Amino acid sequence: MRILSGMRSTGKLHLGHLITLDRWVELQEQGNQCYYFVADWHALTSHIDSTGEFKEWTIDIIKTYVAAGLDPEKSVLFIQSAIKEHAELFLLLSMLVPVPRLQRMPTYKEQREQITDRDLSSAGFLLYPVLQAADVLMYLADGVPVGEDQVYHIELTREIARKFNNVFEEVFPEPKPILSKVTKLPGTDGRKMSKSYDNFILIDNDEKSLWKKIAPMMTDPARKRRTDPGDPEKCPVWLYHKAFTHSPEELDWVIQGCKTASIGCLDCKKVLHKNLVSKLQPVWEKLETFNENPDIIMDIIEEGNKKARKSAQETMVKVRSAMKVSW
Ligand code: SF4
Repeated sequence: MRILSGMRSTGKLHLGHLITLDRWVELQEQGNQCYYFVADWHALTSHIDSTGEFKEWTIDIIKTYVAAGLDPEKSVLFIQSAIKEHAELFLLLSMLVPVPRLQRMPTYKEQREQITDRDLSSAGFLLYPVLQAADVLMYLADGVPVGEDQVYHIELTREIARKFNNVFEEVFPEPKPILSKVTKLPGTDGRKMSKSYDNFILIDNDEKSLWKKIAPMMTDPARKRRTDPGDPEKCPVWLYHKAFTHSPEELDWVIQGCKTASIGCLDCKKVLHKNLVSKLQPVWEKLETFNENPDIIMDIIEEGNKKARKSAQETMVKVRSAMKVSW
């Protein structure tokens, strides 16, 4: 299968992203042809005032991709804005999408209502799903690993591919969403993870700062005292255990210990911290190597961009010819 997915360059990556990266690595190791990119043009839709930081964030994200196990020999790792063909395909595909279809996208409506600290009134934000469709179709992807909230976007991508193939000629496969089975992490305070709440744990936190984030984490409010029994299902720490504690004995220890109050929340968090440290240690070591030798990452980016550009150029030859806009 040919797979495509990306992350927006809106800051450093956190543990929620690490879960996604694990899934990407799995798809890579299954022998799929994977294209993973940093979506810096997408980041413009909500972070137009932070473009000065985009480059640093983008390099940092690619660094984290590789440290987390993406292998540039097996997967193509690239930057969206380095492949100008994305802009051309976006323009051409936008001619096939009625504006009311975009205005009806549930994510568009939701984000306009929920995100009040940013101006989302731009045409760019409305057209975001078309750019996303261009990203996916450019590499003739068959599968896109996404969270449930992105399924509507893949549906639109399929519609665009179908319409293009019908109106012009068969160029694009209709990609399918590859839904993630993994837990969606809440913020450390139990709310949705958000920069404005500062309630997330960065992948590059060291052992000490990791504990500083875990120790005050919100727990089941029923456990006011050490002797009060609790319910893991009402506790954000448990969702982190589900994602990062793999030993069935330890998971069982948490469930039983919480329900019978035979363990305290601090004991429970210490085990989570231990498991996170052992998960992150190899990632931190690789990040350290890349920080000492920044050229390694710049070479990976250059090589990835080159490979992506070649694929994109091949697709655009077919697209221009099908649309009769080739000179
Ligand atoms: Fe949460 Fe663990 Fe405390 Fe139970 S024991 S409330 S799962 S932190």
